[in-house]
Amino acid sequence: MTEPGWNFDNSYARLPDSFYASLNPSAVRSPALVVLNEPLAKSLGLNAEALRSEESIAVFAGNRVPEGASPLAQAYAAHQFGHFTMLGDGRAILLGEQITPQGRRFDVQLKGSGRTPYSRGGDGRAALGPMLREYIISEAMHALGIPTTRSLAVVTTGEAVYRETELPGAVLTRVAASHIRVGTFQYAANFRSKDELRLLADYTIQRHDPGAKDEENPYLALLRGVIRRQAALIAKWQLVGFIHGVMNTDNMALSGETIDYGPCAFMDTYDPSTVFSSIDRNERYAYGNQPGIAAWNLARFAETLVPLLHGEEDEAVKLAQAAIEEFPASYRNEWLSGIRAKLGLSNEEDQDDSLAIDLLELMQKYQADYTRTFAALTLDTVDNAILFETEDFAAWKRRWQDRRGRQAESESDSRERMKRSNPAVIPRNHRVEEALEAAVEGDLSVMGRLLKALADPYSHSPEQAEYAELPKPTSRPYRTFCGT
Ligand code: AMP
Ligand code: MG
Repeated sequence: MTEPGWNFDNSYARLPDSFYASLNPSAVRSPALVVLNEPLAKSLGLNAEALRSEESIAVFAGNRVPEGASPLAQAYAAHQFGHFTMLGDGRAILLGEQITPQGRRFDVQLKGSGRTPYSRGGDGRAALGPMLREYIISEAMHALGIPTTRSLAVVTTGEAVYRETELPGAVLTRVAASHIRVGTFQYAANFRSKDELRLLADYTIQRHDPGAKDEENPYLALLRGVIRRQAALIAKWQLVGFIHGVMNTDNMALSGETIDYGPCAFMDTYDPSTVFSSIDRNERYAYGNQPGIAAWNLARFAETLVPLLHGEEDEAVKLAQAAIEEFPASYRNEWLSGIRAKLGLSNEEDQDDSLAIDLLELMQKYQADYTRTFAALTLDTVDNAILFETEDFAAWKRRWQDRRGRQAESESDSRERMKRSNPAVIPRNHRVEEALEAAVEGDLSVMGRLLKALADPYSHSPEQAEYAELPKPTSRPYRTFCGT
């Protein structure tokens, strides 16, 4: 039989053992494969057909540890909604790092694989709906061109999990550039020695900023690398209307990937105060707050590096502060270049910022859908939204057309630029819910069609039209719940 192709290294397990707890996933009663990501499997050097075998399904369920893996739960701390606390993988096990045939390294982690020393009161388990939700949204993000962890497989366990009701249990196999978080450094800085902190920093540099080793101050280069990646990531979120929902410091990966899809969702009507998460009562993680929260989290990261940045604490703090102060401009540049592309602009003018912001304000004033408005501009169609009937919008459109007339790029190239920058489909909440409801009842066809539409969001093909439809007014407001 063909081998699945696992090729594990375990570099994280070579860190001091204070950074993790070695343990196997807990076995489950009767594993069954729900969904396997064949393109992802292939890109990891895995054989999709072999991954459908009973032995491989046992791996995805945590019933069998593949050869070469060295399973562990990672230790980390975090600020959760602003409050510092010790956490760690309470329901996840890192199997190891898959080394691809191209020599790339990816964490392979089981989520929902049983209790660990960091579980606190939790059961270590996950329900099918939230794991499929992570699968759908992370794959949609990937297709949108946004750095993200990915989902290799979801299996059911044949066991129930108990939340408000009894739900089918599941395990998600998550693939990530790494699972090193701001919270991993908070753990090291608060609870471990400076030597261990340095080992973690050197390890992170090796994985994510290898060039930093040759810099005059490698730890400052690491900090700046992390800041740059987050600025780029959050700008991409804002540009598609993605709301993470729980931007706690344990959910900010130093790789710059989006991680931990819990109560996240895409905004429909443009409104910076949009919040979906039912647990975010103070609207801390509202759409419009995301760049500011990222800066706050990065400041927490910078603090952890202070002992490594300079021999003198004062000097170290100054270096950290100067790096953090780069975030707003870095974010702004990323966002501006993205919004220019969304508006079909190939060159830069000073007024581009206000041109874009004025459009957003009109969307808010007339309660227009964010994605559909940009799609209508792209295809030069008139959506049935009130916005397009207003004199306000007509005036804005004249300004925009004048602005586009002042660039060398041809009309058709500009339109192609817009097509590449404005998705026709996003994982709309009502569509995701509909797919999950059917999947939990055993019908995977709805999810299959949704995944297909989401896989190519910039094609603007006629088959995608139904996925661009808005929910009926009655299905709002939408609330998401932590994927527990
Ligand atoms: P999250 O909100 O998913 O980022 O999780 C926050 C913390 O709670 C992490 O340490 C998780 O490992 C832990 N956690 C979440 N759900 C469970 C669960 N069902 N059992 C044990 N730990 C959990
Ligand atoms: Mg988390």
